[in-house]
Amino acid sequence: MKFQPVIGLEVHAQLKTGSKIFCGCSTTFGSEPNSQTCPVCLGLPGALPVLNKKVVEFAIRAGLATNCTIAHHSVFARKNYFYPDLPKGYQISQFEDPICRKGWLDIQLEGQGPKRIGITRIHMEEDAGKLVHGDVPGLENGSGVDLNRACTPLLEIVSEPDLRSSDEAVAYLKQLHRIVTWLGICDGNMEEGSFRCDANVSVMPVGSDTLGTRAEIKNVNSFKFVKQAIEYEIQRQIDLIEDGGSVVQETRLFDPNSGATRSMRSKEEAHDYRYFPDPDLVPLVIGADWVQRAKKELPELPEHRQQRFITEMGLSEYDAEVITVSHELADYFEECVAFHHNAKAVSNWLMGEVTRALNDSGTSIAACPVIPRQLSELIKLIDSGAISGKIAKTVFEEMWKNGGDPKSIVEKQGLAQVSDSGAIEAVIDEIIAANAAQVEEFRGGKEKVFGFFVGQVMKASKGKANPAVVNELLLAKLKG
Ligand SMILES: [Zn+2]
Repeated sequence: MKFQPVIGLEVHAQLKTGSKIFCGCSTTFGSEPNSQTCPVCLGLPGALPVLNKKVVEFAIRAGLATNCTIAHHSVFARKNYFYPDLPKGYQISQFEDPICRKGWLDIQLEGQGPKRIGITRIHMEEDAGKLVHGDVPGLENGSGVDLNRACTPLLEIVSEPDLRSSDEAVAYLKQLHRIVTWLGICDGNMEEGSFRCDANVSVMPVGSDTLGTRAEIKNVNSFKFVKQAIEYEIQRQIDLIEDGGSVVQETRLFDPNSGATRSMRSKEEAHDYRYFPDPDLVPLVIGADWVQRAKKELPELPEHRQQRFITEMGLSEYDAEVITVSHELADYFEECVAFHHNAKAVSNWLMGEVTRALNDSGTSIAACPVIPRQLSELIKLIDSGAISGKIAKTVFEEMWKNGGDPKSIVEKQGLAQVSDSGAIEAVIDEIIAANAAQVEEFRGGKEKVFGFFVGQVMKASKGKANPAVVNELLLAKLKG
């Protein structure tokens, strides 16, 4: 029997607001434990939550960018459960009436057409605190609770079970990651847990229309682990069914060291949480004018910009995708092209030398020491034949290290390309005279020796001789 995997993802994106969702405490990561708390996020009796307007704005933005309908009326609900990192005994979330409903995203796998993935809902909620075990002074034999993260705003973005492979799941996740970072509502830092996902995985016989029992894999925080966890889980379920067993509904954990998932607890149902509307928070009403304004303020979305780079600028699909991985990189690219209309060369430089230098130094494109105008001028110098591509890399290194405009660096360091045939001829004559044996070999039909001569001339000119002129003159002389 052949099996078809069915996957749905629940993504938690931590919002980049300065303060928490229901109080004014800071959301800065990595501070002294419990230094960013107040009666509201400590869950002290009688403290009342006040909704942060920015969280609503960010949720509307996320909803519009993923083609959702923004609900005029939405409700905060209490999700009741006990855990030491949740002093109130409930998490404030949204249940029956979330802020965004029924959206979609298109994903594209290499060599396939676009596929539309449904988004069931997006809702706002608060994060819980964090348990710290034994690795802190004073906690050698115990555990502590750090409530700095309690009440940090999250968006939960729930997809329809439309994904059919681990590759589709990763493509969807990357698309969503690009959107929330592009909109500036989430920093996307997966290592710190600002963008993490739960994967619901089941399998069913090919041709069946009855979904299999699903297992939920919790809190996977890298694209690579999502792929591994889903693939492991699909195979585990198929093996189980083929051996005559059946899949039980449960929550599982992925272990990156073994690449396996293991059972954590039996899956709870929504009704176990006894959701009910939070009596401390009035229903949220969003007027049409607010949605209209948010729509107007939405930047050009990455998907659209990627298409525009293909159709208007002639980039390949691959290049356009790499260049639109972030808002900052796409902006940098467009600024360069505005100065010098050679989109292909600009994208090559960005994906090559610039990315390499950024990675080596751990710099972001926003802090790139070479500004767009300077990179464009460098490319202009290559295109006009003033310098060779090889010399340009030397000039770029100098610009990166010490700043300065490419033109003045070329002048100061005497790096201009030599195209003057008289000067090149003189060098060629010397080299031919000094390598009589190789000249004989070439004239005897061993044409490979030609490369040796080109290399010698370029070396003697310190890389500055125009290669086209060298080739032409050298060939004439050697054949002569
Ligand atoms: Zn607080």
